[in-house]
Amino acid sequence: MALVVQKYGGSSVADAEGIKRVARRIVDTKKSGNQVVVVVSAMGDTTDELIDLAEQVAPIPSGREFDMLLTAGERISMALLAMAIKSLGHAAQSFTGSQAGVITDSVHNKARIIDVTPGRIRTALDEGNIAIVAGFQGVSQDKKDITTLGRGGSDTTAVALAAALDASVCEIYTDVDGVFTADPRVVKKARKMEWIAFEDMLELASSGSKVLLHRCVEYARRYNIPIHVRSSFSGLPGTWVSNEPPQGDKPMEQAIISGVSHDTSEAKITVVGVPDKPGEAATIFRAIADAEINIDMVVQNVSAAATGLTDISFTLPKTEGHKAMEALTRAQSVVAFDSLRYDDQIGKISLVGAGMKTNPGVTATFFEALSNAGVNIELISTSEIRISVVTRVNDVNSAVQAVHSAFGLDSDSDEAVVYGGTGR
Ligand code: ADP
Ligand code: ASP
Ligand code: MG
Repeated sequence: MALVVQKYGGSSVADAEGIKRVARRIVDTKKSGNQVVVVVSAMGDTTDELIDLAEQVAPIPSGREFDMLLTAGERISMALLAMAIKSLGHAAQSFTGSQAGVITDSVHNKARIIDVTPGRIRTALDEGNIAIVAGFQGVSQDKKDITTLGRGGSDTTAVALAAALDASVCEIYTDVDGVFTADPRVVKKARKMEWIAFEDMLELASSGSKVLLHRCVEYARRYNIPIHVRSSFSGLPGTWVSNEPPQGDKPMEQAIISGVSHDTSEAKITVVGVPDKPGEAATIFRAIADAEINIDMVVQNVSAAATGLTDISFTLPKTEGHKAMEALTRAQSVVAFDSLRYDDQIGKISLVGAGMKTNPGVTATFFEALSNAGVNIELISTSEIRISVVTRVNDVNSAVQAVHSAFGLDSDSDEAVVYGGTGR
């Protein structure tokens, strides 16, 4: 008997009808002779609504109580889903992350999974149950406090459980038919991929394609768990994310470009007037690191010879903006920079593809496409298989569409379907 892990995102269980539809799908999987473990997200935009509520009560909520609050979202959907399955005549039990054995470190709001001990899930399966697990949460190893894994973290819960239970596949059900060459909400002519390698998916995810969370892909690659991303609203096959194309397929030539991603969740901080001498950048970024903030792109301008001062800009999640500004203000007594500038009206566009390494024209075509679309570039960063630029947030959609067309990625058949969700 195969063990299948399925994850249903918030848009798939947005209301009672959605929960019943998903329950039928789960029961069908069980009836085809599989053991089924289901990871479920909070209904619709519940997590965002809980965050809004917390912000009304306290300006910068964070930490232990914030995690307690947010995990309530997944507990609602896990219980409702178990009830819906039972009413279809099948045995089901729901489990919180802690009950399912998801053990994390103690960094609230973005905890890392350090161990998974799914003893209770195994017992539930052996007794013939469908096991429903609340996504995005765990319990800290040392303090035994409830933690969350960061936004979109249910994807990681699903892959971590699939690895711990030695599942044959991890299916991620969402509101689009798979992984596309760009976000179908922005590019109507985006193409669905049948398969994408872990390496390319990692770059797409880390540069903003939220269809899969970066950490979940990292985890799947480490434990070699194939992921099947598909829609819970259609019966269509989706996209396989794995090391190799699925068996039986003809060997494919690796595409030069996998896709175009965008991200509007970041802000830019510029440290103005930094003395241009060794150690200053180190002090600035140590202050940021000590505040446990992950940064993304970094640019240091050439210093003006007359002043010996330079500007350093970097991008970071908007949610960390306030904390970063506070940490830098504290560091000002050591670094003696002039001032700080905070800009949250930026967006990032990235082009991803393993074939980029060996195709010299890619960078030129990318910049020409942006220029033809009249998009001004503020920051640039590259890796072996990715080019990213920062632009004004209002330019993001037209930039993504322009780049997608310029690389011949537009599909000439059906338009990509978005079945649900608010895109929030
Ligand atoms: P869920 O609630 O199922 O976790 P998410 O909203 O987290 O769903 O992720 C699905 C969304 O990801 C899609 O609705 C789509 O707008 C977005 N997305 C971004 N980039 C891509 C891409 N390359 N392919 C498919 N979807 C993408
Ligand atoms: N509900 C959480 C979020 O919205 C986790 C998830 O859906 O993966 O981020
Ligand atoms: Mg998601």
